[in-house]
Parts: sequence; structure tokens; C-alpha cells
Amino acid sequence: MENEDCIFCKIINKQIPTEFLYEDDQLIVFKDINPLAPIHLLLVPKKHIRSINDLEDSDTTIVSDLIMTARDMAEKMSVNKSGYRLFFNVEKGGGQEVFHLHLHLIGGWE
Ligand code: 5GP
Ligand code: ZN
Repeated sequence: MENEDCIFCKIINKQIPTEFLYEDDQLIVFKDINPLAPIHLLLVPKKHIRSINDLEDSDTTIVSDLIMTARDMAEKMSVNKSGYRLFFNVEKGGGQEVFHLHLHLIGGWE
């Protein structure tokens, strides 16, 4: 399931110390190290999936959990009312740099 060369697998396995804002059996949430906005969270499934292109039909609960957790984290970070963006970068041309599926949540602008 894990990929030994993957930085997000290392974060999930606590080989790279990172504060988790949320964790359950399916996913973790932590702050992006290079934030694009006052609030920039990454929602990362524990299963190593390269990108949206590599999702299997059996991964639908992972996808729905990512989105429902994004909704909850937006409320927790108090950006739900002001508004926020959710996005996936897919492969190099789509701006993906870490090849372990993750959902970006950005917001908190004035
Ligand atoms: P991508 O461009 O692949 O969609 O997004 C990867 C994101 O991961 C980038 O925004 C980058 O700043 C973030 N990132 C890369 N390495 C680390 C790390 O070791 N810790 C944290 N917290 N974020 C990271
Ligand atoms: Zn991984």
C-alpha cells in the first residue's frame, strides 16, 4: 500500500514529523509547507494512489471522505462562510509535484 520513495507516505507513517490537523482510518490532514493562501491544507488518503487518473472503482469512499472532510475542515478553520477553493493537480502538466493523491484546500483571504 505504501510507497517507500513517497514523501506523503513518509508523513503518514510519521517518518517525517508533521502536525496532523485531522486523522482517521482513511486520511490525514496537514498544513502545506509552502502555503498559497493564509489557510492551505492538504487532505491525503492513507492509501498510496498516484493521482486522480489511478483511482479505482473501489476507491469511491476515499474520494467522498476527502470531500466531506474538506467541508468539515473549512468549518473548523472558519473559512466556510467566507469561501475557499478545493482542487486536485493531476500529473505534471496539471501542476502535480507530489505523486500521492491529495486535495488542496485554500482560503482565508481578506
Ligand atoms: P502538488 O503540486 O503535488 O499538487 O502539491 C504538493 C504540495 O505539497 C505543494 O503545495 C507543496 O508545498 C506541499 N509539500 C511538499 N512537500 C511537503 C512536506 O514535506 N510537508 C508539507 N507539509 N507539505 C509539503
Ligand atoms: Zn504515497
